[in-house]
Order: sequence, then structure tokens, then C-alpha cells
Amino acid sequence: MQEPPIRALIAPVTPLQQNCTIVWCSKTSKAAIIDPGGEVPRLLQALEQHKLTLDRIWITHGHLDHAGGAAALQEATGVPIEGPHPDDAFWIDEITASGAKWGMPDARSFTPDRWLGDGDRVSLGETEFEVLHCPGHTPGHVIFFHRQARFAQVGDVLFQGSVGRTDFPRGNHQQLIDSITQKLWPLGDDVRFVPGHGPMSSFGQERQTNPFVADEVLAGA
Ligand SMILES: [Zn+2]
Ligand SMILES: [Zn+2]
Repeated sequence: MQEPPIRALIAPVTPLQQNCTIVWCSKTSKAAIIDPGGEVPRLLQALEQHKLTLDRIWITHGHLDHAGGAAALQEATGVPIEGPHPDDAFWIDEITASGAKWGMPDARSFTPDRWLGDGDRVSLGETEFEVLHCPGHTPGHVIFFHRQARFAQVGDVLFQGSVGRTDFPRGNHQQLIDSITQKLWPLGDDVRFVPGHGPMSSFGQERQTNPFVADEVLAGA
């Protein structure tokens, strides 16, 4: 058995139990934290516990519960923030104000070191992830996909048994459905994904059972 190229650890953060994920390159132990919504000291502790070196901060979209801790984590570690797509800049600009409102005073707005777009690649140690632009929940939402590991972090695009809300400013339900069926499904039924909230699933399972986007549901729509 060959060692898998990456490993991952899910650490739900914030009162919204957002699935922050620590992923790392098995060979180098270089890690990325995807969507550090908050609880930065706990995330730093987890890195230490698993003897990982933080190398990147990756952001799927600009919502408070996903990106609220990015500025503090960068301040503590000095690593670059990559993502989301620039169309989410208006959400990131609101983080400081909405953090104060929702009882997360440590949450702060920031400017990513690198904005991401569809087809971009982000590297981690000796491996890399593909970036897909999946608008709908927010206009600048991206997902991170590791082709060989058959693993994706999809933020609030798709959940086990549900899909992302689209009633926010610049949300768009049809665009979200298109992102799921035209960007996620082609990656393969066997791809397992970490959603922004709740348990993991696979694209194949959702295509069979998801009441919003199962093949049968969409065929009858
Ligand atoms: Zn969201
Ligand atoms: Zn969320």
C-alpha cells in the first residue's frame, strides 16, 4: 500500500460548527488550514499536536464562520492567505462588523495574498490541489479538490442532504445548482467531500439521495 498523498483532520469551529479542515502533505507535513472561521488558538494547538508546519491558509468564501479567523491565524504564523475568488471581496470587507455583531470580536477583515479563479492550482509541500469557482451561495465561492486522493472541500456549496443558502446578497439558486452539476459532478461519484457544516458525504451519494440535486430530482424539475 502506498501512503496517501494527503491527510486531513476536521476541526469544527465557531458557534456555527463550521468544518474547518487541516490538510497536509504526507511527505513533508506541510499543512494548509481551510476555512479557519475562528478558535485560532485551538487550531494552532492541533498543528502542534500532529507535528505539522502551517504553510497556507485557504478560504472557500468570505462568510464570517469560514474566514473570520484568517487574519488572526496569519498574524500568528505569517503564512499566506489564498482565496477566495475576488467576487467575495465585499463579504470579506464585512467580517469585522459582522464579527462584532455576532459575538466574535476577534474576527477581522483582510486582503488575501492571492485571489483564486477557476482552474487555478494551489500547492502544498510536494502535492497540489485544484481550484474550481462555484458561485451561487456567494459569487466568489471556490472549492479545493485533490484529484488523486478523491477529496474535496466544498464549503457551503453542497451538504449531505442539502445545498447552500442562496438568499444572501448576490446569491443565485440556479447558479448554485449549475455549479454543483457542472463543476462538482464531473469530478466523479467516488469523490468524498467535506461540506461547510455537517457530516462528510460523496458526490455519488448526493446524486442518488439529495432532495435538491439528485439526478432524479433534477430530471423531474
Ligand atoms: Zn457561507
Ligand atoms: Zn457556512
